[in-house]
Amino acid sequence: MQRSLSFAQARREIARMLGAVAAPGTESVALADAQGRILAHDLIANHDVPAFANSAMDGYALRGGDLLAGLKQFRMIGRQLAGHVGDLTAGQGECVRVTTGSVMPAGTDTVVIQENTHRDGDLIDVLRNPARGANVRPAGGDLVRGQRVLRAGTRCNAAQLGVIATLGLAQIEVFARLKVAHFSTGDELRPLGEPLKPGQIYDSNSVALAALLKSDGLAGSALAPVCDDLNALRERLKQALAQAPVVLTTGGASVGEADFLLQLLGELGQVHIAQVQMRPGLPFIAASAGAAVVFALPGNPVSVMACYRMLLSAALKRRSGARPQAPLRLRAILDEALNKSHRRREFMRGIYKCDLNGRLRVRTTGSQSSQVLSSMARANCLIVLPEGELSLPIGATVLIEPL
Ligand code: AMP
Ligand code: MG
Repeated sequence: MQRSLSFAQARREIARMLGAVAAPGTESVALADAQGRILAHDLIANHDVPAFANSAMDGYALRGGDLLAGLKQFRMIGRQLAGHVGDLTAGQGECVRVTTGSVMPAGTDTVVIQENTHRDGDLIDVLRNPARGANVRPAGGDLVRGQRVLRAGTRCNAAQLGVIATLGLAQIEVFARLKVAHFSTGDELRPLGEPLKPGQIYDSNSVALAALLKSDGLAGSALAPVCDDLNALRERLKQALAQAPVVLTTGGASVGEADFLLQLLGELGQVHIAQVQMRPGLPFIAASAGAAVVFALPGNPVSVMACYRMLLSAALKRRSGARPQAPLRLRAILDEALNKSHRRREFMRGIYKCDLNGRLRVRTTGSQSSQVLSSMARANCLIVLPEGELSLPIGATVLIEPL
């Protein structure tokens, strides 16, 4: 078959095709709404964090030199609790009551923790000396004004959002979400919530695909499913192309009697990939149509998920402005013998866990039929088997990609 590509060739071709799609613009969003968004610019610290030297503990701030000189008893001249700044200045033999986060009072450089003192009125005995400067968090100890905190292309999740908040920014500039229009094809598809007629099934692909797109931070938009009819398909495809620079379809991508996508995409644009040598997911078409790209995925629900994750996810995220990230691949020991009697790259649904010695062990979910979507729901990884026929005994090491 013409344009039948290996898995690696297909990944490169898809990256090239998406690289030619117009990059999304940028927009300003409230930090509270920025989860999962991708930073459009490097984030530079606009001030030191923390902005002032402060106590790391509850205790007494004093001059560390006094302790080195042998002083054991100090007179408390007042308190300076977190959030308050007074005009106390501690002199020789004096200390100030502080709490975690208190600005270090003038003259002090060391905090003796409360547990290591004995208090009698205003007199504080130090029972155990800390080192000079102990229990003090210096200004800029977390971030220094002017430093790059996060790079452009960073996806903002809890930790990143928290760090941005420490800089006081209520709005950030992010890439607009890349629009991806998608629809399912097939005469047998029935919308959810309606009773099935003989021979019909529910359209699960559009639901799973919408979730995959959402979790990658893309602006997915689902169009109504369309039946296996060339004209109806053409109309729906044109409608999708008018909405988004990237279009995904499921079903009808093979060479069966009711499979029209290859013909249609050849007619509307240029087919770059007609097949990928992987399993599941052999019928996978990639075509360009003007400035847009269309990826026609197989109909089998497991193939849809495998094709999306393995072929499309990284390249779509990259086109959305995200910095490229190598997939997390781990080595795991097989708890089950595996035989692979075909030459394509294979992704098996697997369940991995850590054994008592800290080693990862993996087994398959059982039937690897690409129709059995329930086994995808039980899997927590994909087992990656390389090209070529293969016979792997129990105990062999394989690569897995956690889901
Ligand atoms: P196809 O690629 O169109 O030959 O479809 C392959 C298999 O996937 C068939 O059994 C279809 O019924 C099934 N299938 C196609 N589209 C969907 C869908 N949207 N949801 C669930 N199953 C589907
Ligand atoms: Mg079909």
